[in-house]
Amino acid sequence: MNLFKRLLNTGYVGARAALERRIPFWPIERIERLQRHRVRSIVRHAYTTAPFYRDAMEQRGLKPGDFRCADDLARLPLLDDLTVRNNPELFASTRYSDQSRLTAYTSGSTSHVQKKIYWDHTALLDLLCYSERHRAVLNALLGRGWGQRQLFIIPQGSMTLAIRSFWDAATLTPPQLARRHFVPVSSPLEEVVREINTIKPEVVFSYGSFADLFFRWLADRRLTIAPPRVWMYGADMLSDDAREIMEKQFGCIPYTTYQAGETGRIGFQCERRRGFHLNVDAVPVRLVDENGRTVRPGEVGEVVVSNLYNRAMVLLNYRLGDLGALSTIPCPCGRSLPLLAGFEGRCTEVLQLPDGRKVPYVMFEVLLKNELHDSIQAQMVQSSPARICWRIVPASNADREKLRAQILAKSSSFIGPKIQVTVEFAEHIPSTGGGKFRRVIRDSTLVQTEQPEPRN
Ligand SMILES: [Zn+2]
Repeated sequence: MNLFKRLLNTGYVGARAALERRIPFWPIERIERLQRHRVRSIVRHAYTTAPFYRDAMEQRGLKPGDFRCADDLARLPLLDDLTVRNNPELFASTRYSDQSRLTAYTSGSTSHVQKKIYWDHTALLDLLCYSERHRAVLNALLGRGWGQRQLFIIPQGSMTLAIRSFWDAATLTPPQLARRHFVPVSSPLEEVVREINTIKPEVVFSYGSFADLFFRWLADRRLTIAPPRVWMYGADMLSDDAREIMEKQFGCIPYTTYQAGETGRIGFQCERRRGFHLNVDAVPVRLVDENGRTVRPGEVGEVVVSNLYNRAMVLLNYRLGDLGALSTIPCPCGRSLPLLAGFEGRCTEVLQLPDGRKVPYVMFEVLLKNELHDSIQAQMVQSSPARICWRIVPASNADREKLRAQILAKSSSFIGPKIQVTVEFAEHIPSTGGGKFRRVIRDSTLVQTEQPEPRN
């Protein structure tokens, strides 16, 4: 990109930054007004330029004028991962070509197969502007906004890095804003320790599962590091146990935002870190039951999002595969953006038992708190409805047979004697291709096709 364009983009982002820091504190009516304006605009755009929406609206006898607010988006078909993965061009706007959009790939949270997503250049700059909302919190946690030493331990080819490269090429970031370092996520953990102790980063960015493994491993080996003040994680989960190790043993603040490759930043934690404030003006969120009906605040449902600002690929009413509940009480921080308070993990991380019960993995995390504390990694494999195998990487000083007996006893007492539970010990459990870690593997075909990630 030429220098003039980069200067122009930098001016655009700079001018928007101060506004974006204020929007979370606006009265909710004002935020919803902005949301309604964006809903009407994106629906018009979708109807005229994205084949999927033209067809879907015509089949339902709908016109763009029928969409007046975010609730109306529920009249569109509920999209899932597979539909978009198999037909990306149906959602792509005919108004954009490869010169005016970035093609990036999601790490495939639900299907674990990568999905092509187009982002138009303006939307990517908007995404950088929206990041100001969580950056304000991050800077407060760090105690400084300039001169941060940042370390990224994120898989190569991830959408996060693809978008970051676009920002670097499209804007002029003052070098004194941040010094960035990168360590390959496939590096041996000893190497990561060396890098952290050399770079002494103030903030580290990684996937949740990487932080989970890394801090448990550090605690198990009784190793120390020059602790970053904040460890920012995303993409997948950090267990409560690992969070406690991070905070109490290493004095490191875990901080996270909620995002997806399809939508960018959906929400962010505030200083209280009790849930995610949702950027509903840009990405409206609703929670639905199994039949796609919106559930009430406080009730658990699957997260459905709409991206109101990416025009190169229009994704409205899109099921993310995450389970959560909207808070019924306002956050004391003063932000009026709604709060997703109960985050219950992913729909795929739920065991389905032969008697019809559905048990989310997070329940086992509570039930087996002590046993999982004696483990570095854990995963449940449900190879058939009545067979469950725990794969465990035990801590080095763990009494394996005692650990096995306790896991078996507690699991069986909870899920019943008719289900066969076994425990297998391993040295390392690999992530999936996109670098995410799956705590539950349910489909036997996925077990066979999973490729181990190179590590150690
Ligand atoms: Zn808050």
